Amino acid sequence: MLARIKEFLGMEAKPKEEASEQEVEKVAEEEKAKPRIGYIHLSGCTGDGMSLTENYDILAPLLTEMIDIVYGQTLVDLWEMPEMDIALVEGSVCLQDDHSMKELLEVREKAGLVVAFGSCAATGCFTRYSRGGQQANPNHESFVPIADVVKVDLAIPGCPPSPEIIAKTVVAVLNGDMDYLQPMMDLVGYTEACGCDLQTKVVNQALCIGCGTCAMSCQTRAVTMTNGRPEINEDRCIKCGICYVQCPRSWWPADRINQDLGL
Ligand code: SF4
Ligand code: SF4
Repeated sequence: MLARIKEFLGMEAKPKEEASEQEVEKVAEEEKAKPRIGYIHLSGCTGDGMSLTENYDILAPLLTEMIDIVYGQTLVDLWEMPEMDIALVEGSVCLQDDHSMKELLEVREKAGLVVAFGSCAATGCFTRYSRGGQQANPNHESFVPIADVVKVDLAIPGCPPSPEIIAKTVVAVLNGDMDYLQPMMDLVGYTEACGCDLQTKVVNQALCIGCGTCAMSCQTRAVTMTNGRPEINEDRCIKCGICYVQCPRSWWPADRINQDLGL
């Protein structure tokens, strides 16, 4: 089930010829079982979790029949974090929050695949705009993408991610569809984007379709649309990368879009 992707990520514990009979049987049992998924909520608005749990038709069979949710605040009555196949991590991590930092390190230890679920976990998104000083936790000043702290295997962007991309990603993991997953693996390291990337990698490449998503997604209003194209005010840009990640013509390969659209 998850073997192909684990192999791809270099996570196989031992070469097959060195595995004992019991180990081979254990792996075969694991391959037959439903994947165990945990949900970890760090710093974000909870919109990603709502996208997962809302009763969208497309997600109902996935949540009830294809996977076992083994960990998650409000989803499972369990305090100790168990071993799991996939951990979906929502939210960025606050560097001054010891509890969140510890939880993230534990996730990395207990989960086969760690997924940055949603734009806050993947890029920091609007939490990067924090300057601290909030009444409850005035020392919470710095919020970073989780890949700045632990190794992350996949990033599913979106604020929140759509039910379609959630379902397709889980199915791609189950089927080992590396073509589908590769752009999201590449996106993991994309945590230092700036508004200029839109100009050089989208507009200058004649890929922009003038949809305005970048301007709508920028929380500092550094992007405005002029004559159907984005213009970046670099003085306002906080380098969160959200405009680039949300742009439908940026990181997702055009040939894959055409394939999905049947073109
Ligand atoms: S232009 Fe806005 S959304 Fe884009 S990286 Fe800068 S602050 Fe973030
Ligand atoms: S989101 Fe991308 S395609 Fe849409 S206007 Fe901005 S740069 Fe152009």
